[in-house]
Amino acid sequence: MAINTQLQNRSNNVCELCSNQDENLKVYTVPPKTDDVVDNQVVLCSECFEQIETGNYGNTHHWRCLEGSIWSEVPSVQVLSYKVLSKLTSEEWARDAKEGVFLDESLIEWANAEDELEAERVIHKDSYGVLLEAGDTVVLIENLNVKGTNYIAPKGTIVRKIKLVQNNAEQVEGKINGDTIVILTKFVRKSV
Ligand SMILES: [Zn+2]
Repeated sequence: MAINTQLQNRSNNVCELCSNQDENLKVYTVPPKTDDVVDNQVVLCSECFEQIETGNYGNTHHWRCLEGSIWSEVPSVQVLSYKVLSKLTSEEWARDAKEGVFLDESLIEWANAEDELEAERVIHKDSYGVLLEAGDTVVLIENLNVKGTNYIAPKGTIVRKIKLVQNNAEQVEGKINGDTIVILTKFVRKSV
């Protein structure tokens, strides 16, 4: 995405985290915000951008720059610095930098929001621990008593186009013998 004048002026055309001058400065919108407005964005060099995008913060030495950028006057830069520092859990200086700064509560919330959303996400897995997704086909690994009917779905029954039960990682829905029923994930195996 092109860097608009406002961002150019704010960043002085250098990376707002590490001050690298890079011909390919990029604009990064700090998640979970998705609105591409200047207040949500940070100008990054390729190195910073790459590590953040891939979630691979292996080059810890590079991130010593955060000790400075965490004190930025720009909220989005502070938030992104805080987020990256939070990933560098094995680095003592990173912990110190995080603890040493005073951040507005709303900014800390912003910085932690992505991880919290991730933690809340309900993940469905079959009896073997394989990820289940809506639309998958599964096979019953045990005979299943279909509630409210006399029908017992035998082991090996194929259930197509399952739906995931929101807020319950242990349940999916599928059609067996014409009825849509709730099936426990521990009784199914994903069919590939
Ligand atoms: Zn950088």
